Amino acid sequence: MKEFRGIPASPGIAIGPVHLHNDDDLEIPEITIEASAVGGEMERYRAAVSRAVAELERLRLRSGIGVDPTLLDSHILMLQDPEMESSVQKKVLKTHKNVEWVLESVAEDLMIKLSMLTDAYFKDRMLDIRDISRRILAQLLGTSGRGSLDQLSSAVNVVTTSLLPSDAIGMRRQFVLGLAMDQGGTTNHTAILARSFGIPAVLGTGRVSREVRNGEMMIIDGNDGVVILNPVPEVLAQYQNRKKVYEAARQDAQKSTDEPAETLDGKVHHLLANIEIPEEVDIVLANGAEGIGLYRSEFLFIQHGVEVSEDVQAQAYGRVLRGMAGRPVTIRTIDLGGDKLVPGFFSGQEENPLLGWRAIRFSLSLREVFLTQLRALLRASVEGKLKVMFPMISGVEELEEALLCFEQAKAELREKAIAFDEEVPVGTMIEVPSAALVSDHLAKMVKFFSLGTNDLIQYTMAVDRGNERISHLYQPFHPGVLRLIRMVIENAHEAGIPVGMCGEMAGDPRMALLLVGMGLDEFSMNALGLPAVKRVIRSVSSTEVRQLVDQVLPMARSSEIEEVITAYSKGRFSTK
Ligand code: PEP
Ligand code: MG
Repeated sequence: MKEFRGIPASPGIAIGPVHLHNDDDLEIPEITIEASAVGGEMERYRAAVSRAVAELERLRLRSGIGVDPTLLDSHILMLQDPEMESSVQKKVLKTHKNVEWVLESVAEDLMIKLSMLTDAYFKDRMLDIRDISRRILAQLLGTSGRGSLDQLSSAVNVVTTSLLPSDAIGMRRQFVLGLAMDQGGTTNHTAILARSFGIPAVLGTGRVSREVRNGEMMIIDGNDGVVILNPVPEVLAQYQNRKKVYEAARQDAQKSTDEPAETLDGKVHHLLANIEIPEEVDIVLANGAEGIGLYRSEFLFIQHGVEVSEDVQAQAYGRVLRGMAGRPVTIRTIDLGGDKLVPGFFSGQEENPLLGWRAIRFSLSLREVFLTQLRALLRASVEGKLKVMFPMISGVEELEEALLCFEQAKAELREKAIAFDEEVPVGTMIEVPSAALVSDHLAKMVKFFSLGTNDLIQYTMAVDRGNERISHLYQPFHPGVLRLIRMVIENAHEAGIPVGMCGEMAGDPRMALLLVGMGLDEFSMNALGLPAVKRVIRSVSSTEVRQLVDQVLPMARSSEIEEVITAYSKGRFSTK
């Protein structure tokens, strides 16, 4: 028996035989060519690219409902990237080697460069480079060896160095029990797809694919980030039991998908989901979300670049709205910058990116990019129930400026007689402490608030939310944070507008006790977290949790507050 640890990327437990998916087995020949053959080599390269593009287009047609074609579109664009072709051509001319060898080496150079960057986004883009170079190589070599996953005929745990997003889309999902992968983190597309397909996954295990053989028994525990190879009988039995308990709990929780998130004394709250890409709509609906409380639109720009056209945007937003079939969908305008960068766009390093050129600051300074997005959002508004909100608003003037842009986008569409919903509600995120402190003023300017606690905690406590070293100081239960949240909710209600929360805090069932007690109207979170939060809401009365809030808010320490809440939850609802 062997145990590997990794990142729990998609919840659930999978037990089954290993299917080793290895696309490293392409044999790349190294051949020296004559100078006169360079033209011919490049012809072969271009023909292989065209075939690879055609293959992806076929895959896109086949991928079906729920799969975002933009993922495949972005690979098609990368395949056709003239820079890639020119790098290959230069290297063929320089080395006089065959185009397969050159392509492999160009792709490797690019991946090495990306691997040296610390940002998780760029590391994840390595998979995209690998994906498209493998695809062209398979065409050049005439192998159909890629994509063994679309031939699966029995249930397996897929083990791989890395799984390319396009392979994840193409695999026969009904036969994939779980996924264990050497590379990757939670922000890569494969992780997002695994969650959206409901496949338990552990990523970033480092070496698991090098230590297994086809057919060996494997446990993949996507809840705790553990992979166990050839478990001894006691461990196997233990996990079989855990799997049963986990699945029963999920099924139990899912029974409540159609029930309202209503307290025992009849106070109704609304549960919504956060998404990054349109593929997630299916899982959002399966978990009983009443709508989408946060669609992080910047991921579209990360995939396509900052210049993504109004048409492409309108289609993507429209797809989500149609998928949600009339349920509310809140789309947040671009929140780029900070840790979310578009390759090639944010070239100058900022000293303090999280306090720098990001979110609404970015949009207000690139007016045409912002107006293009606002027009695209308005155009899509005819497809469903759209709400729009702005990220990182810090005060009244900034919100005024953003609202003026929204009016300008409307005027531009009216001028061109393009249809849109005149009544699209506009809200603002409250994630900067100054905005929380002037939320009485802001509340009079918009139709709703959404508390972005990931940033609100970061900026209130001056703790970088991504820095492992100080993560103990990032305290959602800190009385300072809780007071700010209560103040925002009170100010919103005073002005007669609803308040939602879309930070991770909204998905913590223990925190739900306090948030219900404070009167939060909407909770928006990863779809898989919805049933547990609903369970808490349905098992308390609003009077008892209001008393709980009154009891803990005067406390001085986060540890005290957390202890009281944990003890209160224990035995009443499982929090895992
Ligand atoms: C937040 O800050 O809580 C939030 C939801 O936005 P993001 O995590 O995208 O910064
Ligand atoms: Mg934020």
